[in-house]
Amino acid sequence: MTDPRYSVCGSGYRLDARQQELLELAESLGPRFAERAGRYDREASFPYENYAELRDAGLLGLCVPEKFGGRGADFRTYSLVSATLGKFCGATALTFNMHACSTLWPGTLADDLDMTPAQRAEHDEHRIVHFSRVVREGAIYAQPFSEGSAAAAGKAPFGTTATRVDGGWRINGKKIFASLSGAAHYYGVLCTEAKPELSMRDTLYVAVPGAAAGLSVAGDWDPLGMRGTVSRTLLFRDVFVPDEAQMMPRGVYFQAASRWPHMFTTLSPTYLGIAIAAYEFTVRYLRGEVAGTPPVKRRMYPTKQIAVAEMWVKLEQTRALFLRMLDDARVDPPKDARLRAYASQYTIMENSNDICRLAIRTCGGQSMLKSLPLERLYRDSRCGALMLPWTAELCLDRIGREALYEPGEQDD
Ligand SMILES: Cc1cc2nc3c(=O)[nH]c(=O)nc-3n(C[C@H](O)[C@H](O)[C@H](O)COP(=O)(O)OP(=O)(O)OC[C@H]3O[C@@H](n4cnc5c(N)ncnc54)[C@H](O)[C@@H]3O)c2cc1C
Repeated sequence: MTDPRYSVCGSGYRLDARQQELLELAESLGPRFAERAGRYDREASFPYENYAELRDAGLLGLCVPEKFGGRGADFRTYSLVSATLGKFCGATALTFNMHACSTLWPGTLADDLDMTPAQRAEHDEHRIVHFSRVVREGAIYAQPFSEGSAAAAGKAPFGTTATRVDGGWRINGKKIFASLSGAAHYYGVLCTEAKPELSMRDTLYVAVPGAAAGLSVAGDWDPLGMRGTVSRTLLFRDVFVPDEAQMMPRGVYFQAASRWPHMFTTLSPTYLGIAIAAYEFTVRYLRGEVAGTPPVKRRMYPTKQIAVAEMWVKLEQTRALFLRMLDDARVDPPKDARLRAYASQYTIMENSNDICRLAIRTCGGQSMLKSLPLERLYRDSRCGALMLPWTAELCLDRIGREALYEPGEQDD
């Protein structure tokens, strides 16, 4: 059994039987994921073996509702599983986020949104197609949204366009930082319906097959951290997709982004997992329990004890806010819950990196050798605060603005 200090929710947190089972399943995959993590990082290669294990364990369908053959995980359950995977391999957890949210958002989350009966029927028809690919064929979905413009931050329409044609859409544009590039079977792309004036309200969410004519992967991938995500550039040149490629009906993604803000917190559990891993490593290292390291005999120094205490305080603050945020998540959350969601995202992303920094400083020089996981955790943790739409900076920006202005309010 996992020591509750190193679990994502600690002892005494109420989990239902399904959550318990899924967390144990994720923990059971963990040691093998951790063993492979160094290689994926060194090679900047995609964690194919881990995905084969996720598929065999039935976890690719984690967030597919049960009525469509999946494991029916809701937002909270997903976030707990994701954080658990993050303890073992950040790149696997982060890419799994893109895949799982491709089913969570059109799944339970979309059920909370307003749709006309016709839209609801259309959505059901389309999501059966997507969910069966995942559950029956083991398909992997990605979420390439970023374009290097203001769009991924939610401040402008996406420049990638979808033009209405007979029986479907023709997609043109470019996406950067497309995690799972070359590995995904489908790319869930956000684009804007091509009209004389592009509008964020016309955001369209469509799944483009990896093998579609006109789609290509470009550029190299040699980043600081999260190297196993293989987040290269995607180019779309007159790519045709049929109507059933729509992952949400027209206009509904815009509604989701406005009314279900916690959907944008789903990257953060990965980084909570990384923070837990760095803390656990530090305790085990100072106790002389990390295989392959010399007995360090340093734990008797008050400075080490204070540093470990400081890390624990940060970790507990982070975990507590994360768990509180999970309680808040719902459609149309009240203002304090929305502000807390930004605060949770900010805290997890910043503290994860800070806990990793403290871990290296506390364990010392030998702990940052490439043969040990700490330096990879440190580099991976650096990426969290940069991820749109809720970068650490943009969370502060939103908190400040939304605290001081009510919707529609302006200065004279
Ligand atoms: C490992 C990794 C994997 C990724 N995977 C994916 C993926 O699968 N799909 C995907 O869509 N994206 C992905 N991204 C991209 C990520 O979400 C960001 O889009 C990307 O990091 C933005 O980089 P940029 O330099 O273009 O940001 P910019 O847009 O140039 O922003 C730079 C910084 O400026 C700030 N900023 C931006 N806009 C504003 C504003 N309006 N007001 C105030 N401040 C602002 C933000 O804090 C931001 O960090 C990934 C990124 C990383 C690092």
